[in-house]
Amino acid sequence: MSAFFCDCHTHTSHSPDGKDPALDMCRRAAELGLDVLTITDHCDCNYWLTAEEFERTAGQTIAVDREMYGSRDYSARSIDEVSGLKERFPFLMCGIELGQPLQNIGAAESITARRELDFIIGSHHQNAGRDDFYWIKYDKLDNGAINALLTDYFDEMLGMCGWGGFDVLGHLTYPLRYIVGDYGLSPDMERFDDVIREIFRTLVSGGKGIEINTSGLRQKYGRTLPDEKYLRLWRECGGEIVTIGSDAHCVKDLAAGTERGKELARECGFKYIAYYKERKPVFAAI
Ligand SMILES: [Zn+2]
Ligand SMILES: [Zn+2]
Repeated sequence: MSAFFCDCHTHTSHSPDGKDPALDMCRRAAELGLDVLTITDHCDCNYWLTAEEFERTAGQTIAVDREMYGSRDYSARSIDEVSGLKERFPFLMCGIELGQPLQNIGAAESITARRELDFIIGSHHQNAGRDDFYWIKYDKLDNGAINALLTDYFDEMLGMCGWGGFDVLGHLTYPLRYIVGDYGLSPDMERFDDVIREIFRTLVSGGKGIEINTSGLRQKYGRTLPDEKYLRLWRECGGEIVTIGSDAHCVKDLAAGTERGKELARECGFKYIAYYKERKPVFAAI
Protein backbone atom coordinates (compact mmCIF):
# COMPACT_ATOMS: atom_id res chain seq x y z
CA MET A 1 0.00 0.00 0.00
CA SER A 2 1.50 3.34 -0.99
CA ALA A 3 1.50 6.24 1.40
CA PHE A 4 -0.26 8.66 -0.92
CA PHE A 5 -3.96 8.69 -0.16
CA CYS A 6 -6.40 10.80 -2.15
CA ASP A 7 -9.96 11.01 -3.36
CA CYS A 8 -10.44 13.26 -6.39
CA HIS A 9 -14.15 12.78 -7.11
CA THR A 10 -16.65 13.51 -4.32
CA HIS A 11 -20.02 15.21 -3.92
CA THR A 12 -21.59 17.19 -1.10
CA SER A 13 -25.13 18.39 -0.38
CA HIS A 14 -24.49 21.08 -3.01
CA SER A 15 -25.05 18.31 -5.57
CA PRO A 16 -28.71 17.51 -6.23
CA ASP A 17 -28.03 13.86 -5.33
CA GLY A 18 -25.42 14.53 -2.62
CA LYS A 19 -26.20 13.90 1.06
CA ASP A 20 -23.68 15.50 3.43
CA PRO A 21 -22.34 19.04 3.85
CA ALA A 22 -18.85 19.91 2.60
CA LEU A 23 -17.69 20.52 6.17
CA ASP A 24 -18.58 16.94 7.19
CA MET A 25 -16.76 15.56 4.14
CA CYS A 26 -13.66 17.58 5.09
CA ARG A 27 -13.77 16.46 8.73
CA ARG A 28 -14.05 12.82 7.65
CA ALA A 29 -11.17 13.24 5.18
CA ALA A 30 -9.04 14.61 8.03
CA GLU A 31 -9.98 11.63 10.25
CA LEU A 32 -9.06 9.22 7.45
CA GLY A 33 -5.76 11.02 6.90
CA LEU A 34 -6.30 11.87 3.24
CA ASP A 35 -3.46 13.74 1.57
CA VAL A 36 -5.88 15.23 -0.95
CA LEU A 37 -9.65 15.58 -1.04
CA THR A 38 -11.17 17.16 -4.14
CA ILE A 39 -14.83 18.11 -3.95
CA THR A 40 -16.42 17.93 -7.40
CA ASP A 41 -20.10 18.81 -7.14
CA HIS A 42 -22.25 18.39 -10.22
CA CYS A 43 -22.72 21.04 -12.84
CA ASP A 44 -24.98 19.37 -15.39
CA CYS A 45 -24.91 21.98 -18.13
CA ASN A 46 -28.04 20.77 -19.91
CA TYR A 47 -30.10 21.57 -16.81
CA TRP A 48 -28.53 24.97 -16.26
CA LEU A 49 -31.21 27.63 -16.58
CA THR A 50 -30.91 31.39 -16.46
CA ALA A 51 -33.02 33.09 -13.81
CA GLU A 52 -35.54 34.13 -16.51
CA GLU A 53 -35.73 30.62 -17.94
CA PHE A 54 -36.29 29.27 -14.45
CA GLU A 55 -39.25 31.64 -13.94
CA ARG A 56 -40.64 31.19 -17.44
CA THR A 57 -40.68 27.40 -17.29
CA ALA A 58 -42.33 27.11 -13.87
CA GLY A 59 -44.69 24.16 -13.83
CA GLN A 60 -43.30 22.59 -17.02
CA THR A 61 -41.60 19.24 -16.93
CA ILE A 62 -38.52 20.24 -18.84
CA ALA A 63 -36.12 18.09 -16.84
CA VAL A 64 -36.24 14.71 -15.16
CA ASP A 65 -36.42 16.44 -11.84
CA ARG A 66 -36.80 20.17 -12.19
CA GLU A 67 -36.71 20.82 -8.47
CA MET A 68 -33.40 19.03 -8.21
CA TYR A 69 -31.69 20.38 -11.29
CA GLY A 70 -33.58 23.46 -12.41
CA SER A 71 -31.27 26.07 -10.98
CA ARG A 72 -27.93 27.43 -11.98
CA ASP A 73 -26.90 28.21 -8.45
CA TYR A 74 -25.90 24.94 -6.86
CA SER A 75 -22.52 24.45 -8.49
CA ALA A 76 -21.63 28.10 -7.94
CA ARG A 77 -22.57 27.72 -4.26
CA SER A 78 -20.33 24.66 -4.00
CA ILE A 79 -17.35 26.57 -5.42
CA ASP A 80 -17.99 29.45 -3.00
CA GLU A 81 -18.15 27.19 0.05
CA VAL A 82 -15.32 24.80 -0.87
CA SER A 83 -12.88 27.53 -1.77
CA GLY A 84 -13.72 29.17 1.57
CA LEU A 85 -12.96 25.93 3.46
CA LYS A 86 -9.50 25.51 1.93
CA GLU A 87 -7.82 27.63 4.56
CA ARG A 88 -9.07 25.33 7.33
CA PHE A 89 -8.35 22.15 5.41
CA PRO A 90 -5.09 22.49 3.50
CA PHE A 91 -5.60 19.13 1.74
CA LEU A 92 -8.83 20.38 0.14
CA MET A 93 -9.08 21.08 -3.61
CA CYS A 94 -12.01 22.77 -5.30
CA GLY A 95 -13.42 21.04 -8.34
CA ILE A 96 -16.59 20.38 -10.30
CA GLU A 97 -17.98 17.51 -12.30
CA LEU A 98 -19.03 19.17 -15.54
CA GLY A 99 -21.83 17.18 -17.19
CA GLN A 100 -22.79 17.39 -20.87
CA PRO A 101 -20.90 20.65 -21.57
CA LEU A 102 -21.68 20.60 -25.29
CA GLN A 103 -25.41 20.48 -24.58
CA ASN A 104 -25.11 24.03 -23.15
CA ILE A 105 -21.75 25.43 -24.07
CA GLY A 106 -22.53 28.89 -22.61
CA ALA A 107 -23.12 27.37 -19.18
CA ALA A 108 -19.97 25.25 -19.47
CA GLU A 109 -17.80 28.21 -20.40
CA SER A 110 -19.26 30.36 -17.67
CA ILE A 111 -18.68 27.90 -14.80
CA THR A 112 -15.28 26.67 -15.98
CA ALA A 113 -14.01 30.25 -16.03
CA ARG A 114 -14.19 30.34 -12.22
CA ARG A 115 -10.63 30.95 -11.05
CA GLU A 116 -11.12 29.13 -7.74
CA LEU A 117 -11.28 25.79 -9.55
CA ASP A 118 -8.41 23.34 -9.09
CA PHE A 119 -9.96 20.53 -11.07
CA ILE A 120 -12.65 19.86 -13.66
CA ILE A 121 -13.96 16.39 -14.45
CA GLY A 122 -15.70 16.16 -17.84
CA SER A 123 -18.58 13.68 -17.65
CA HIS A 124 -21.24 12.40 -19.98
CA HIS A 125 -24.32 11.13 -18.11
CA GLN A 126 -26.96 11.46 -20.81
CA ASN A 127 -27.19 11.70 -24.55
CA ALA A 128 -28.76 14.84 -26.03
CA GLY A 129 -32.53 14.66 -25.71
CA ARG A 130 -32.42 11.43 -23.68
CA ASP A 131 -32.62 10.63 -19.97
CA ASP A 132 -29.58 10.04 -17.81
CA PHE A 133 -28.38 6.44 -18.32
CA TYR A 134 -29.42 5.91 -14.71
CA TRP A 135 -33.12 6.26 -15.58
CA ILE A 136 -33.31 4.15 -18.76
CA LYS A 137 -35.26 0.86 -18.61
CA TYR A 138 -32.85 -1.44 -20.45
CA ASP A 139 -35.09 -4.50 -20.20
CA LYS A 140 -37.51 -2.70 -22.55
CA LEU A 141 -34.79 -2.29 -25.22
CA ASP A 142 -33.40 -4.79 -27.72
CA ASN A 143 -29.69 -5.16 -28.48
CA GLY A 144 -29.91 -2.80 -31.44
CA ALA A 145 -31.38 -0.03 -29.30
CA ILE A 146 -28.75 -0.51 -26.59
CA ASN A 147 -25.99 -0.42 -29.21
CA ALA A 148 -27.47 2.79 -30.61
CA LEU A 149 -27.47 4.37 -27.13
CA LEU A 150 -23.85 3.38 -26.59
CA THR A 151 -22.85 4.59 -30.07
CA ASP A 152 -24.30 8.02 -29.27
CA TYR A 153 -22.68 7.91 -25.84
CA PHE A 154 -19.19 7.45 -27.23
CA ASP A 155 -19.74 9.83 -30.16
CA GLU A 156 -20.91 12.63 -27.88
CA MET A 157 -18.02 11.88 -25.54
CA LEU A 158 -15.58 12.16 -28.44
CA GLY A 159 -17.09 15.57 -29.24
CA MET A 160 -16.67 16.62 -25.60
CA CYS A 161 -13.03 15.48 -25.64
CA GLY A 162 -12.42 17.48 -28.83
CA TRP A 163 -13.78 20.56 -27.05
CA GLY A 164 -11.53 19.77 -24.10
CA GLY A 165 -12.57 22.38 -21.52
CA PHE A 166 -11.86 20.03 -18.60
CA ASP A 167 -8.90 18.20 -17.05
CA VAL A 168 -9.89 14.54 -16.78
CA LEU A 169 -12.57 12.40 -18.42
CA GLY A 170 -15.03 11.12 -15.79
CA HIS A 171 -16.09 7.49 -15.37
CA LEU A 172 -15.69 6.18 -18.93
CA THR A 173 -18.24 3.32 -19.39
CA TYR A 174 -20.74 4.90 -16.98
CA PRO A 175 -23.75 3.25 -18.73
CA LEU A 176 -22.34 -0.20 -17.90
CA ARG A 177 -22.98 0.51 -14.21
CA TYR A 178 -26.66 0.11 -15.12
CA ILE A 179 -26.73 -2.02 -18.29
CA VAL A 180 -24.38 -4.69 -16.91
CA GLY A 181 -24.58 -4.06 -13.16
CA ASP A 182 -28.29 -3.50 -12.59
CA TYR A 183 -29.85 -5.24 -15.61
CA GLY A 184 -27.35 -8.10 -16.02
CA LEU A 185 -27.04 -7.53 -19.79
CA SER A 186 -23.81 -8.02 -21.77
CA PRO A 187 -23.59 -5.54 -24.63
CA ASP A 188 -20.93 -6.21 -27.27
CA MET A 189 -18.32 -3.67 -26.21
CA GLU A 190 -15.68 -4.63 -28.75
CA ARG A 191 -17.53 -2.72 -31.44
CA PHE A 192 -16.61 0.46 -29.53
CA ASP A 193 -12.87 -0.19 -29.25
CA ASP A 194 -12.05 2.08 -32.21
CA VAL A 195 -14.02 5.06 -30.96
CA ILE A 196 -12.57 4.60 -27.46
CA ARG A 197 -9.09 4.60 -28.96
CA GLU A 198 -9.95 7.82 -30.76
CA ILE A 199 -11.27 9.33 -27.51
CA PHE A 200 -8.00 8.39 -25.79
CA ARG A 201 -5.82 9.82 -28.57
CA THR A 202 -7.81 13.05 -28.46
CA LEU A 203 -7.33 13.28 -24.68
CA VAL A 204 -3.61 12.51 -24.91
CA SER A 205 -3.03 15.16 -27.58
CA GLY A 206 -4.87 17.69 -25.40
CA GLY A 207 -2.77 16.83 -22.34
CA LYS A 208 -5.80 15.43 -20.48
CA GLY A 209 -6.24 12.47 -18.16
CA ILE A 210 -8.82 9.88 -17.25
CA GLU A 211 -10.07 8.83 -13.86
CA ILE A 212 -10.42 5.46 -12.21
CA ASN A 213 -13.85 5.84 -10.69
CA THR A 214 -14.23 3.30 -7.88
CA SER A 215 -18.00 3.68 -7.35
CA GLY A 216 -18.69 0.53 -9.40
CA LEU A 217 -16.80 -1.54 -6.83
CA ARG A 218 -19.46 -0.91 -4.20
CA GLN A 219 -22.35 -1.35 -6.62
CA LYS A 220 -23.71 -4.40 -8.43
CA TYR A 221 -21.36 -3.75 -11.35
CA GLY A 222 -18.40 -4.75 -9.14
CA ARG A 223 -15.74 -3.07 -11.36
CA THR A 224 -14.08 0.27 -11.65
CA LEU A 225 -15.20 2.74 -14.33
CA PRO A 226 -13.37 2.19 -16.59
CA ASP A 227 -12.05 -1.29 -15.85
CA GLU A 228 -8.67 -2.88 -16.45
CA LYS A 229 -9.11 -3.44 -20.20
CA TYR A 230 -9.52 0.28 -20.86
CA LEU A 231 -6.83 1.33 -18.40
CA ARG A 232 -4.36 -0.82 -20.33
CA LEU A 233 -5.62 0.68 -23.59
CA TRP A 234 -5.18 4.17 -22.11
CA ARG A 235 -1.51 3.39 -21.48
CA GLU A 236 -1.09 1.86 -24.94
CA CYS A 237 -2.47 5.07 -26.46
CA GLY A 238 0.13 7.11 -24.55
CA GLY A 239 -2.11 8.11 -21.64
CA GLU A 240 -0.12 9.07 -18.56
CA ILE A 241 -2.47 11.01 -16.33
CA VAL A 242 -4.76 8.97 -14.07
CA THR A 243 -6.73 10.30 -11.12
CA ILE A 244 -8.66 8.20 -8.62
CA GLY A 245 -12.07 9.04 -7.20
CA SER A 246 -14.69 7.28 -5.13
CA ASP A 247 -17.59 9.37 -6.49
CA ALA A 248 -18.85 9.41 -2.88
CA HIS A 249 -22.18 11.16 -2.46
CA CYS A 250 -22.05 10.84 1.35
CA VAL A 251 -19.48 10.76 4.18
CA LYS A 252 -19.77 6.99 4.53
CA ASP A 253 -18.43 6.35 1.02
CA LEU A 254 -15.53 8.79 1.17
CA ALA A 255 -12.36 7.22 -0.28
CA ALA A 256 -14.14 3.86 -0.71
CA GLY A 257 -12.25 1.63 -3.11
CA THR A 258 -9.44 4.11 -3.72
CA GLU A 259 -6.78 1.69 -2.45
CA ARG A 260 -8.03 -0.90 -4.95
CA GLY A 261 -8.00 1.80 -7.63
CA LYS A 262 -4.32 2.49 -6.92
CA GLU A 263 -3.51 -1.21 -7.01
CA LEU A 264 -5.22 -1.52 -10.37
CA ALA A 265 -3.27 1.47 -11.72
CA ARG A 266 -0.05 -0.23 -10.60
CA GLU A 267 -1.11 -3.54 -12.17
CA CYS A 268 -1.67 -1.72 -15.46
CA GLY A 269 1.84 -0.26 -15.33
CA PHE A 270 1.24 3.25 -14.00
CA LYS A 271 3.91 4.49 -11.60
CA TYR A 272 2.11 7.68 -10.61
CA ILE A 273 -1.36 8.92 -9.97
CA ALA A 274 -2.29 12.56 -10.24
CA TYR A 275 -4.41 15.12 -8.48
CA TYR A 276 -5.01 18.64 -9.75
CA LYS A 277 -4.15 21.93 -8.12
CA GLU A 278 -4.94 25.18 -9.94
CA ARG A 279 -5.88 23.13 -12.99
CA LYS A 280 -2.45 21.50 -13.24
CA PRO A 281 -1.65 17.85 -12.56
CA VAL A 282 0.53 17.05 -9.56
CA PHE A 283 1.98 13.52 -9.66
CA ALA A 284 2.43 11.21 -6.69
CA ALA A 285 4.31 7.91 -6.81
CA ILE A 286 2.26 4.79 -6.10
ZN1 LIG B 1 -20.82 11.36 -12.82
ZN1 LIG C 1 -19.77 12.16 -9.62
